[in-house]
Amino acid sequence: MNKFILDGKRNDWKWQNANRITDAESFRKAFPNCTAELAENIGGYIRKFRFAATPYYLSLVAKDGQGNPLPGDPLWKQVCFHPADTPDSDGYADGKVNWENPAEFPTPILHHKYPDRALLRITDHCMCYCNYCYLTARILDKNTPKHNLFEDDYWEKSLDYIRKHTEIRDILISGGEPLLFDNASLEKVLAGIRGIGTVKTIRLNTRALSFNPFRFDNGLAGLFRDYRLTALEIHTSHPSEITPEFDDALSTLESSGYRPMILWRAPLLRGINDSAETLEKLFIMLYERRIEPYYLFHYAPYSLSRAEYGVSVRRGAAILRELRRRIPGPSFPRYTLFHIHGKQDIPLSENGTGDFIYETDKNGNSIVRFIDWKGEWSIYPDVGEKGNRP
Ligand code: SF4
Repeated sequence: MNKFILDGKRNDWKWQNANRITDAESFRKAFPNCTAELAENIGGYIRKFRFAATPYYLSLVAKDGQGNPLPGDPLWKQVCFHPADTPDSDGYADGKVNWENPAEFPTPILHHKYPDRALLRITDHCMCYCNYCYLTARILDKNTPKHNLFEDDYWEKSLDYIRKHTEIRDILISGGEPLLFDNASLEKVLAGIRGIGTVKTIRLNTRALSFNPFRFDNGLAGLFRDYRLTALEIHTSHPSEITPEFDDALSTLESSGYRPMILWRAPLLRGINDSAETLEKLFIMLYERRIEPYYLFHYAPYSLSRAEYGVSVRRGAAILRELRRRIPGPSFPRYTLFHIHGKQDIPLSENGTGDFIYETDKNGNSIVRFIDWKGEWSIYPDVGEKGNRP
């Protein structure tokens, strides 16, 4: 394994962040035998999009005889830079967003989509960047505005809004990666939310268990306990992300005497986890650790790399039908579409249902029409059966 990856204070989450690979120079340092083509690709990619990978995450990636990441490795594929990833590539080129309807944002960091819950995006930065992120515009695209909680007055304005909207009972702390905040900053966030009596439950989204599990220190576990974090929502896309370090992080939570509910959600990704075998392994590993598989997301349409990683809705449903025969009920997730009009559970029947209809539009593209949570018809642009749009 590469010397760079093993050097340093490996178990220190701040060291992991400070030593991330973010550009061609740090990539060459980590992989001195990389080809000129790889180094050129990263240069082209990072002119437009963010790229970062922690030494820990890269240490999990399979390497070739020269010590370079194997192109087909399921972990490397999630963070690597594609020469084809330009704003003209399928999906993101439309300039549309998957989820964030601007009318639902009382402040740039507060998203109020459903009446009883709201989501606080406390940072637009991440520990590593997933090249399929459904928030391509907010997170990956370097040319869109970025926000940071304590640099503006968004925080106080957001709390004021939540105080006034007493119908909001549930707050989801999200990002980017909220666990990029140190414990002192995170305590301000948790204390601010817990100070609003009408908020009963708090959730926090994180990808740190895969990218930097050392973030789960005793101080963080104590914060979750003291502020009664209701649920931790985690994202692991592949069984190889569940490591001894992942388990150590869970043990740190346990040792505080309090473990929040842990819910899993991640996207279905072609060539990474789109088989019943891979998902079976992943869900059983989660179940063994008392982590509930909550949502398997369908690939959001206006995302970077959709041409590479998108799976058709029908094929996803077929994978889940097979999976259902293989794993116990508590380890079986909902299969869900992300849509700007709200999330939508996908029926697993082969040909849809009366209110979830597979169709082809006038240009020959696959679409799904469904009745959304408001009782209105919505359209979802799907990929073709082989993945790419026809
Ligand atoms: S960690 Fe989450 S927010 Fe960040 S790039 Fe990955 S999917 Fe997007």
